[in-house]
Amino acid sequence: MFSFFPRAFAACALAAALAACATASAPAGADVYAGFTLLDPATERRIDNAYIVVAAGRIVDAGAGLGPAVAPDRRHDMSGAFALPGLIDTHAHVTLGRLAVTRTNGAPAIAATSEDDITAHNARMLVAFGVTTIRNPGGATEANAAYAEGVRSGALLGPEARAAGEILDRMPFQGLTAVVTDAASIEAAVAAQAAAGMNYIKLYHLLDEAQFTAGVEAAHRHGLEAITHTGGITWDRAAELGVDAIVHAMPISADALPLTARDDYRDATETGAHAFYEWWERADLDSPEMQRLIAALVEHDVTVDLTLVVFQKTFWGDDPTVRDTGAAYTHPLMRQNWQTFRFDIGWREEHYRRARAVWPKIMRFARMLHEAGVKLTIGTDQANPFVAPGFDTIAEMRLHQEAGIPPWAVLRMATSQAAETLHMEDRIGRIARGMEADIVFLDADPTRDVANAATTRAILINGELHDAAALRAVD
Ligand SMILES: [Zn+2]
Repeated sequence: MFSFFPRAFAACALAAALAACATASAPAGADVYAGFTLLDPATERRIDNAYIVVAAGRIVDAGAGLGPAVAPDRRHDMSGAFALPGLIDTHAHVTLGRLAVTRTNGAPAIAATSEDDITAHNARMLVAFGVTTIRNPGGATEANAAYAEGVRSGALLGPEARAAGEILDRMPFQGLTAVVTDAASIEAAVAAQAAAGMNYIKLYHLLDEAQFTAGVEAAHRHGLEAITHTGGITWDRAAELGVDAIVHAMPISADALPLTARDDYRDATETGAHAFYEWWERADLDSPEMQRLIAALVEHDVTVDLTLVVFQKTFWGDDPTVRDTGAAYTHPLMRQNWQTFRFDIGWREEHYRRARAVWPKIMRFARMLHEAGVKLTIGTDQANPFVAPGFDTIAEMRLHQEAGIPPWAVLRMATSQAAETLHMEDRIGRIARGMEADIVFLDADPTRDVANAATTRAILINGELHDAAALRAVD
């Protein structure tokens, strides 16, 4: 394991007895941040009046007290603040821009675009709300590779991203999917994404079981993990087939419903996003099917991000007081685009009513997954309609709390637990010696209410200090 603050705390407490704690030396060029309450979701510990020493983008020391002496311009008074490890959004399509109608051989088709200005906006807003790392589960491989290089070189201010390229599916969607058919085409698509530096392969809902299996196997052969948004394949089957992560609170396979409801669901008259509530209307959370589904996730150690916020914005798509809460932080061109491209196109009052009626079931499902021991992380589906970068990462945390999950557990989902699922726990997810200096300073205590994670005062990203209000101001 890695060293973390309790050890530094103990060392400091001992040193304090010798009156040496505040006078220990700091490396040249180090910054000291002091006076805040340090929160460690991994252990549920807090240290009042804490300090950290940051040098070369890393935390070189942390503990209680004033910390070592440094020049006045290197000492930052963070009195009254609460410090959390930088937040992790495991479902942010940061490079995805507007959808457009294109014509291929005269036939209209929808294409996803990637636009530098929108990407830069999204990246900055994520940081403005304390998000310092993301998993980007799908987008143009080239755009995602360029994003990684932009962040690495410092040309772009944004969270470090681990990403999937084009999502493997049977249907073309320019800029978003790679069409695959047989094992050879799957192998070629996976090899290309691996060569371009992607970390994940995302498998989409139209793949059949043979294609899905080939996708998981090809990903693993190339050292990548497989993420899925499933459709026909149940979550328990996907887990058995070796998938690493599942996204969206929509296990909408007919086979996950009680036997008597399956034909009825298959015959449901509506299509598209209507399936979200049509499936949940028929789902029985206490059925053997659901118990099997949840048990399989635990048994096969599959991580899940539910992206509750994107479904809330769809189910309340006719209610601006829910839908538009984060609108100020979205890019104006995306807002314009969502007047046309949205999940609730054509919904009438009856559809919204039915969708909202299943919401308590979805929230109970979230709590059941957590209580069963499924590793949940906080993901928003940013880039999709009405999801605001960063702002809605906090909203997603709040929805997990509303589902009945305790604040500390939700904070873990957004920090240490997410770091583990991304296999980055040796450098992010905790405020501790040796870790990257990715820290968010808040004005209010998020262990009382995770909504307080929105009271961002300042952000350290790789040791670089940013003022939250300045980043949120739209230029
Ligand atoms: Zn997504």
